[in-house]
Amino acid sequence: MKHLTDTQLQGLADGTLRGPEGLAAREHCDGCAECGRELTGWSALSTRLSALRDPATPLDFTATVLAAVEVREAQLTSRRHTLLAAVPAAALAVFAVVGWAFSLQIGKLVDDFATARTVIGVLGPVFTAMRLPLGIGAFVLFAVVLIALSRTLRPTYARVET
Ligand SMILES: [Zn+2]
Repeated sequence: MKHLTDTQLQGLADGTLRGPEGLAAREHCDGCAECGRELTGWSALSTRLSALRDPATPLDFTATVLAAVEVREAQLTSRRHTLLAAVPAAALAVFAVVGWAFSLQIGKLVDDFATARTVIGVLGPVFTAMRLPLGIGAFVLFAVVLIALSRTLRPTYARVET
């Protein structure tokens, strides 16, 4: 007769091997000294294993987890603030670039408007005179936006490092 496998013996010991298969295994162990000894060993092990308890949770476990969650939340919040600050800054930057490009186009528009030559004849020098201040204004606005953006980003990196 074939002896029982370790899996069958373990199943008998912890009670997971049931039905006809479990009954046959049990009968074999009753009649076979070798398998009976094995089963006794496995049963002792199973009893001792089920007597084991989960290790106690460290007292500061909850506090540690909550602290980690808070750090993560702070990082996410600062990232969100950076994004929120970057969106209007980017919009302002686009506005500044468009404004600067438009100021360059005014001179071309002045040349193209043949029907309003007289008006433009008067306004032309005004536009030409305004072109440089407009361009400078756009650049100044762009620089201000860049400075504001770098101010917003700097504390974020400082916070993450600490
Ligand atoms: Zn046997």
